[in-house]
Amino acid sequence: MLEGKVALVTGAGRGIGRAVAKALAREGAFVVINYNGSKERAESLAAEIGQSGRAAVYGCDVSDFESCGKMIGDIIGRYGRLDILVNNAGITRDGLVMKMREEDFDAVIAINLKGAFNTIRHASRYLLKQRSGSIVNVSSVSGVSGNAGQANYSASKAGVIGLTKSVAKELASRGITCNAIAPGLIETEMTDAMPQSAKKALQEQIPLQRMGSVDDVAELVVFLASEYASYITGQVICVDGGISM
Ligand code: NAP
Repeated sequence: MLEGKVALVTGAGRGIGRAVAKALAREGAFVVINYNGSKERAESLAAEIGQSGRAAVYGCDVSDFESCGKMIGDIIGRYGRLDILVNNAGITRDGLVMKMREEDFDAVIAINLKGAFNTIRHASRYLLKQRSGSIVNVSSVSGVSGNAGQANYSASKAGVIGLTKSVAKELASRGITCNAIAPGLIETEMTDAMPQSAKKALQEQIPLQRMGSVDDVAELVVFLASEYASYITGQVICVDGGISM
């Protein structure tokens, strides 16, 4: 389905990004696995994909504007194109707003929101010239509905939705799509870090009565990056077991 396409997935060494990279490679895309801290895991994923498909790793902190420019430039230089950009890298620094430290607000915005801007900003001129491309931004149901204890995270993910819609409008005339995915509670290291009681309380509110898997999200990314979704842009699709209904 994605043969001949070059994809960049940020934060792809582990969690949702790892599953997204695997799924895109399975469908024939050449995948650039971006990592920040998880070099070994990114390399092991590239080796795993290498048995059936093609992949490369690229270390870069997405909150760094210049480094993102270099990453996108190197990808274009080495592989000649970029067709799929998945902005998945993200962090949490939870706490009640009354006690939230300024650096925890800034760090979450810098990675979750500005990180997505950084890659889109640098990739957009290539995509515009190419007259094709799919951008998929990983937001969150916290960005759709808000969440107590996550003012910074919810603000960043709501920002990603605004970014997605504006970029979709700017790039649509050249056939480039930009959509957001809003996962609910997905089983990864991010949710492993939540207190069991908070997880249980949230799980009880999920109509489908289970946490989501990384593959639930990855398969939607594959669809949005494919020709089947070429008439879908500027949308926010929740993968959340119905919790945001
Ligand atoms: P995770 O397991 O904690 O993984 C986070 C990923 O982000 C890692 O691959 C990490 O890379 C990367 N990352 C963090 N800071 C980075 C930076 N400065 N530059 C580049 N990469 C960076 O989290 P996850 O659950 O897979 O989350 C993936 C995305 O889904 C995030 O945007 C998250 O907000 C969103 N999401 C998750 C859930 C959920 O329930 N899990 C729900 C809604 C939305 P390194 O390890 O290499 O640093």
